[in-house]
Amino acid sequence: MKQNTTCPYCGVGCGVTAELSDQRIIAVSGDSQHPANFGRLCIKGSTLHETTQTEQRLLLPRVDGQNVHWSDAIEAVASRIRQSLDAHGPGSIAMYLSGQLLTEDYYVANKLMKGFLGSSHVDTNSRLCMASTVAGHKRAFGSDSVPGCYEDIELADLIILVGSNAAWNHPILFQRIQAAKTQRPQVKVVVIDPRATATCELADLHLALKPGSDVALFNALLVHLAHSDALDQSYIDQHTEGFERAIEAARQDIPDIQTAARLTDIPLADLTIFFDWFTNTPRTLTLFSQGVNQSSSGTDKVNSLMNCHLATGRIGKPGSSPFSLTGQPNAMGGREVGGLANQLAAHMEFSPEAINRVQNFWNAPNMAQQPGHKALDLFQAIDRGEIKVLWIMATNPLVSLPNTALIRRALKRCDCVIVSEAMSETDTLTFADIQLPSSTWGEKNGTVTNSERRISRQKGLIKAPGEARHDWEIICDVAKALGFEEGFNFSHPAQIFAEHAALSGFENDGQRSFDISGLSHLSQQEYDQLQPVQWPINQHFPYGRKRLFDDGQFSTPSGKAQFIATQTNTPKALPSAQWPYQLNTGRIRDQWHTMTRTGRAARLFNHRAEPFVDLHPEDAKYHNLRDQDLAELSNHQGRYIGRVRISAAQRQGEVFIPMHWNQQFSGDGYCNALLEGFCDPVSGQPESKQGAVALSAYPAQWHAQLLIKDDTELRLRGYWSKIPMRHSTQFLLADTELPRSWMEWCRQHLGQAPDSWVQSSAGDMRAVAFDQDRLRWVLLISLNPIQSDPAPMDMLFSKRTLTPTQRTRLLNAQQGAQATQIICSCHQVTEASIKAAIEKGCHTLDSLKEKLACGTGCGSCIPELSSLLAEEIATLTIEEQSV
Ligand code: SF4
Repeated sequence: MKQNTTCPYCGVGCGVTAELSDQRIIAVSGDSQHPANFGRLCIKGSTLHETTQTEQRLLLPRVDGQNVHWSDAIEAVASRIRQSLDAHGPGSIAMYLSGQLLTEDYYVANKLMKGFLGSSHVDTNSRLCMASTVAGHKRAFGSDSVPGCYEDIELADLIILVGSNAAWNHPILFQRIQAAKTQRPQVKVVVIDPRATATCELADLHLALKPGSDVALFNALLVHLAHSDALDQSYIDQHTEGFERAIEAARQDIPDIQTAARLTDIPLADLTIFFDWFTNTPRTLTLFSQGVNQSSSGTDKVNSLMNCHLATGRIGKPGSSPFSLTGQPNAMGGREVGGLANQLAAHMEFSPEAINRVQNFWNAPNMAQQPGHKALDLFQAIDRGEIKVLWIMATNPLVSLPNTALIRRALKRCDCVIVSEAMSETDTLTFADIQLPSSTWGEKNGTVTNSERRISRQKGLIKAPGEARHDWEIICDVAKALGFEEGFNFSHPAQIFAEHAALSGFENDGQRSFDISGLSHLSQQEYDQLQPVQWPINQHFPYGRKRLFDDGQFSTPSGKAQFIATQTNTPKALPSAQWPYQLNTGRIRDQWHTMTRTGRAARLFNHRAEPFVDLHPEDAKYHNLRDQDLAELSNHQGRYIGRVRISAAQRQGEVFIPMHWNQQFSGDGYCNALLEGFCDPVSGQPESKQGAVALSAYPAQWHAQLLIKDDTELRLRGYWSKIPMRHSTQFLLADTELPRSWMEWCRQHLGQAPDSWVQSSAGDMRAVAFDQDRLRWVLLISLNPIQSDPAPMDMLFSKRTLTPTQRTRLLNAQQGAQATQIICSCHQVTEASIKAAIEKGCHTLDSLKEKLACGTGCGSCIPELSSLLAEEIATLTIEEQSV
C-alpha cells in the first residue's frame, strides 16, 4: 500500500510517497504530484524509511528515573506545573518547542501556555533559524509573510543566493535552479557567501564577502540604484514609506562602491558586475537563509536586502521577490500559531486589542499579557532560578543552542525538566526529570507549512512503538489534568486544525495576511484528503494564493511597505590576538540537525563521517596540518576537535565546522561549545555563524579504528567519533597519551582484553575479541591517522562464526584497503572510482552518470561531481602539457 505524506527535514517541504507493508514503511519515493518537489527527493528524504526502526526509541514514560503509567506521568507533569504556579506564578513555567512539531501540536502548546497558564515563555528552536527573517518581514511588510513562491525560480532571470548553501541544505530547490538554468542558460546565478560552497558550482558570480558584511553590500547596492536612476519611483511613492531615511542612512554608511569593496573584501570588478546585473534585471529573486539570519545584525541584513527589492518594486511579482528559505519542516507552522515568545497567536502581537480578541476566542481564563523570553534569554532566566518548570518538546537544546556550558548549567539548575522525545538517547534527555515518549515522522498526523506558505499533510502511517503518544494528545491530557477540560477536549488533529484556521479568520478585517479561515470547516475526511495549498485561504482566495503583496497592499496600518534605515555592524565575536581565527558553522549535505534521526541511517555517514574542520591551505601550512590530521579549535568557552579538511573554498583566516555532532556521536564535536550566544537585538536570534577561536594541531600520540557489535559498555576519552555501520558500530579514536599496556586499555575501555592480536615493528597493532565464536570487536591502532575501509570488517559481524581464514585476515593489518570518501550516497560511488573513470576518459557529467550511475539517484551529489570533474580535468590537462 502507498500513501502520500511530507518530508520532516528541511523547509522545502517535499511530498513523499511511502510504501507500507506489515505496519512498516519499507520504501519512500518523491510524490510526483507535490508542487514542492514534483517527485524528487534528496538523499535525506530518500533514506527516511531507514530511520523508522524502533530500536533507540523512548518507549515508556519515566518520572524521576522510574517507568510509570501514562496517567501517573500526566499527573506528575500537571502537579509540578500546579505547584510552581501556586508558589511562583505563571512566569515560572516555560516551554521550549521545535520546528519539528506539527502545527496542531504547536497550536495546543501555545494555547495552554498563553491562554490558560498565563505564561508567554514559549519559544522554539525556530529562534535559532528564522527569527531574523520574521522580524525583518514584520518591519518591512507589517506581517511575517513570504511574498514569493517556488515557481519564481523558473521565472527569474537573476537568482541571488545570500548566505545559503542550497545545494546541500535545500537540495530540491537547488535542483530546480539547476533545471531552470539548463532550460534558459541566460539566467544568471550569484552566490554571496564567504565560502565557495557546493552551491557555487552553479554560480556565474561568487561574491566571497567578509563574514557579517552583508548590510554594507546591500546598502551600497541601494546607493548605486539611486545613483543610476534605477529606482521604481512610482512604486516607492505609491506603495512604500521611509525611503528617504533609508537612502540617507545607506549613503552615510556606504557612500560609494569603493568603500563597499573595502568593507566586504569583494573585488571592485565583481561588485560592479553584481550591481549592474541587479540594476538591469527586473525579474530578480533573492533567496536567503542562515548566513543572513544567524547573525547579531540578522534583522538589519534582511531589511537591507529587502530595501533593494522595495526600491525597484520587485516584491510579489512573477520571478521577483526576496525569498527566505526556512530551515525546518514546520518553522512556518510554528510562526503561524504563535510559537515564538514575542507573538501571541495566528500572527497577532501582544496588543491589548489582540489579547482581548484571542481571550474571547479561546474563552481563556488567564491570558499572558506581554511577550516572554526568547530562546537564549529563556535559558538565562532558568539559570537565574526564575523559571522552575521547563517542558522541552522535540528538540535538543543542549546541542543546538550556543553557550553549551550555560545551557547545561540551566538544565541542571531547573527544578523540573520535562522532555517529550521520540528517541531514547539525546544529550538533553539525560537532564529530564520527566521523560515523555512521543511519536515521530511516519506516526504523527497533522500539517506542516513550507517556505512558500504551502500547508501539506504529514500523515500517521504506522503506529507509534511502545507507549509513545502524539504531542498534541499529551498536551491536551495535561491541560485537562489542570482543569482545562473545555479548551482541550480534542479527539483528532482535524479538530485542532479547524480551530486554528477559525482563529486566523476571527475578527480579521484583512489586516492579518495569515488567514486560513477557508479551511475552518473541513471535515475529518476532507482534512485527511487536504491537498498542498498556499495560504491565505479565505473567501477572497478559496484555493490559496501564489504571491503576496503583488497588488502593492501590505499588512502595515498604512497599507504601505516600510523601508528600514540600516547600518553596517561588525559581528560581535571577532578574531583577536588570542583567538585569531574567524569561526563559521553550518549544515552538511547528508545530516540533519542534531542527528537524532539521520544518525540512524548508516548510509548518511558516508559523505562526512566525523566532525571536521575546513581550513585554508595557507592556514594548514602555517600549523603544519595535513588532510586527515586532527585539529583543535578552542576559545575561552570550550574546545572542538575535528578531522582536518584542507580546502581552498575557505577564506584564509577562517575555519568552518559542522553543527550536527553531539555527545551521542563524538567526544568533542559540539560546535556550540565555542559559540558565545550574542544575539540580534531585534530578533533575539543568536549569532551562530560567528565565533573567534585559536587553531592548533591535536597532539595525538595514537589513532585507532574500532568496530564493535555492542557499544553500550564503551568508556572512551580523548578524541572519538561514532559512525553507525550496517552490522556494527565504528569508532575513530585518538588520544594524547600512549597507554602503558594496550591489554589493560582494552579491558578498561572495551570491557575485554583481546583474544588475539598482532603488533608490527612500526608500532601498529591489530586486535580482535570474540563473544564465544562471534566477533565482538576489532581494533586497529596506529601512530598515524587510520583510513582503512571498514566495510569488509563490518560484514564479518553479521556471521555467527568466523572461518580460520577470516580470523587470520582480520589480524592482517597490511591488507586493509584504504577507505575513500563516498560522493554519491544513493549508489555508494567513491571519490576514487570517479577519479579513475575520469582518468579513463569520462570527461562529462553524463558519461560519469552512464558509467558509474553516480548522480542518477537523488541528485544531491551533482555539484560535488561537477567540481571533482573540473578539478581532475584541469589536473590531467596540466599533466598532459608538462609531458
Ligand atoms: S529537500 Fe530533502 S530534506 Fe528537504 S524536504 Fe525535500 S527531501 Fe526533505
